Amino acid sequence: MILEKKKMFNDFAAAKGLRSTRQRDIILDIFLSTHQHISVEDLYFKVKSSNPGVGHATVYRTLKLFVECGLAREVLFYDGQTRYEHVVAGEHHDHLVCTNCNSIVEFENETIEMLQNEIAARHGFQIKGHKLEIYGLCSSCRRQ
Ligand SMILES: [Zn+2]
Ligand SMILES: [Zn+2]
Ligand SMILES: [Zn+2]
Repeated sequence: MILEKKKMFNDFAAAKGLRSTRQRDIILDIFLSTHQHISVEDLYFKVKSSNPGVGHATVYRTLKLFVECGLAREVLFYDGQTRYEHVVAGEHHDHLVCTNCNSIVEFENETIEMLQNEIAARHGFQIKGHKLEIYGLCSSCRRQ
């Protein structure tokens, strides 16, 4: 799985004419070994703890490349903060985002997916992808 993603990224980088760099490899390794929904800052601190030479801008640019190559996708927070997660081939889910503690609940709902396809079809629209993020208070924040 991880090897497949590394190959996917290396092929993408080669097609773009990017030279492979050790820093990019390190960032990719750490990103792929990390839990989902990580911000640029989270990833930067993780990378920096074992590789102090890697700069924030490099981490940011590299994450953008992961998104461009289809390896990662962005989850936008209510406050404008962006987090990143791995994209698992053939898998799709949407998000409930807590605006208080920033926790994320992932869900899949066939009915919602079908309705989106219907709406697009009705407008003669060809879907290339979608993001559904629902903002509010998670169950533990509601209890407080
Ligand atoms: Zn969806
Ligand atoms: Zn919460
Ligand atoms: Zn997710």
